[in-house]
Amino acid sequence: MKLCIIGSGYVGLVTGACFAEVGHHIICVDNDQHKVDMLLAGRVPIYEPQLEELVRRNVAAGRLFFSSSVKLGVDASEVIFLTVPTPIQTDGNVDLSYIERVACEIAVALKAYRVIVDKSTVPVKTGEKVTEIIHRYSAIGSPFDIVSNPEFLREGRAIKDLLHPDRIVIGSSSHRAIALMKKIYKPFPAPLLVTDVNSAEIIKHAANSFLALKISYINMVARICEANKADVEKVADGIGLDKRIGRGFLDAGIGYGGSCFPKDVAAFITICQQQLGKPFELLKEVQRINDTQLEYFVSKIRGALQILEGKKIAVWGLTFKPDTDDIRNSVAVDLINLLISEGAIVQVYDPKGMEKSKRLGVVPAARFAPSPLDAAQGVEALVIATEWKEFASVKLGELKARMQAWFIFDGRNLLNPSEVRQSGFSYYSVGRF
Ligand code: NAD
Repeated sequence: MKLCIIGSGYVGLVTGACFAEVGHHIICVDNDQHKVDMLLAGRVPIYEPQLEELVRRNVAAGRLFFSSSVKLGVDASEVIFLTVPTPIQTDGNVDLSYIERVACEIAVALKAYRVIVDKSTVPVKTGEKVTEIIHRYSAIGSPFDIVSNPEFLREGRAIKDLLHPDRIVIGSSSHRAIALMKKIYKPFPAPLLVTDVNSAEIIKHAANSFLALKISYINMVARICEANKADVEKVADGIGLDKRIGRGFLDAGIGYGGSCFPKDVAAFITICQQQLGKPFELLKEVQRINDTQLEYFVSKIRGALQILEGKKIAVWGLTFKPDTDDIRNSVAVDLINLLISEGAIVQVYDPKGMEKSKRLGVVPAARFAPSPLDAAQGVEALVIATEWKEFASVKLGELKARMQAWFIFDGRNLLNPSEVRQSGFSYYSVGRF
């Protein structure tokens, strides 16, 4: 099938490449000309495992194209996916201007029946707004249908998630659009749930809020574990083996970040406040726990090192999670800036996040090191802020030889406490003893 994806970022580019991989013909559109030029030149602007290879293979096979023209994409495709940003505003409302702008451009370009699919994460009733915009701006009143098809991929394993999703949600009231969507997703082995548009939109906000809730829940349990010399990992295993709960998202740490959870929880709270006249108190508590988790962790560093002023500290990690170069709302970035604001001299290393961090200047006062061991050179403490596998394989003896004092603060419970302590380190993690 001929499909167009508008917005070629973390979701759009991976979706385009995976749809091409199963045989569809894809035009990925983006209004960032630099991004489009890179893609046309065979370079992939983001890091996601296996993405470069997938893009290259499908471009070579003549199934994947790039353009900055929405009109070209609309003319050539039966179905048009929207994967543009939906950031949160300071008042808690979602900024729908990217969606609205693209809807106007599609309306102007529409000449024949098209299905317009929203894959961006949006507040409930955005489908109705997009419908209105297209009616208003469509010059010749071409027929179209709106579908909500929320995306559940996880950065770092996005290709796997897209090719083997847990479920596919299709929200639409049009039989014609649903039939086309089923055809697109036929090669994907997953349960397909058909709903109305509003339900599909709510599913995405409710799912992300629930996952964030699990993280805050275990982070609070971790604090109780610490107060009682219990082990939060064992507690999480004990809870998670219950099939009704599941073990996923029960890893204690320094809190959730990234481009999705913080904004989606905030948006769901605002939707609740506006529509029901009262806030979603449960989610406000999820936010509150998350907002205090970093401070909770940093207080351990302060407690052990006593004075941060002038102390040389290594931080491993910049990205909001491993296997991505995405540093949007990264707790690791907040951690580094907090340590620096208290006078520490921070040397940082991250396998994929350093180039973007330098370019965007997110940790302006940090020193970048070429390897984990170089970051640890001459430091009095090491802080692990992102759980990259690479960090777990660093030899503790070599690490110790590089450091001047031997404190490790493991914000992601990456290392084995007894191994680290046996190697002569003072070791602090989250909810473990
Ligand atoms: P992103 O910023 O990586 O990508 C968005 C792209 O849209 C950018 O390349 C941008 O240049 C482009 N764009 C903006 N305006 C445009 C326009 N008018 N015309 C053409 N292109 C335009 O964002 P993302 O992380 O891919 O997220 C996109 C949406 O998907 C958001 O709503 C997000 O909440 C949702 N989502 C993200 C993830 C994730 O893990 N990143 C997962 C599920 C859902």
